[in-house]
Amino acid sequence: MSDWKWFGHAGHLIVGYACRFHLCTLIGEHLVSTVGEYWPEREVREIHAKVYDPGWLKENRHLNGDTFDAAYMKRFGYEDIGCDRKYETMVFKVSGKTCTAEDCNCGMPTIIPDELDFAGYNAAGSAMTGHYTMCEKGNLAAQQAAGGSAAAGSQK
Ligand SMILES: [Zn+2]
Repeated sequence: MSDWKWFGHAGHLIVGYACRFHLCTLIGEHLVSTVGEYWPEREVREIHAKVYDPGWLKENRHLNGDTFDAAYMKRFGYEDIGCDRKYETMVFKVSGKTCTAEDCNCGMPTIIPDELDFAGYNAAGSAMTGHYTMCEKGNLAAQQAAGGSAAAGSQK
């Protein structure tokens, strides 16, 4: 676990920038990325409300910024990021390149965008636990790949 590297940006998903929950961990050659709590711009949420509860939108559309957001959160919560899930973990192999952009330089590895493993959740606690489970799995694989004797003892 001491050689796991954590990153502060969302590791996958086109709308990852709008996800308020994200965990991103590099273990060996694998990036384990969990995202969730998708909170798009107001315009997008208004479209969602129009489809699912036009009456609610009519009553609340006049509200300003935070007040609208609070009412929206109470009525709809975060958007799903996939079929019946608000959080997901995906595992990718990294390409070997990392972010060295002048205005960022966060060191985030570039992923090869074919997911190797996946899990979906609907609560932050499950997403957190799921992320660690996936990291442990990756850790074991990395140890085995390195031929480490530590892997033998922890294998289930
Ligand atoms: Zn970066």
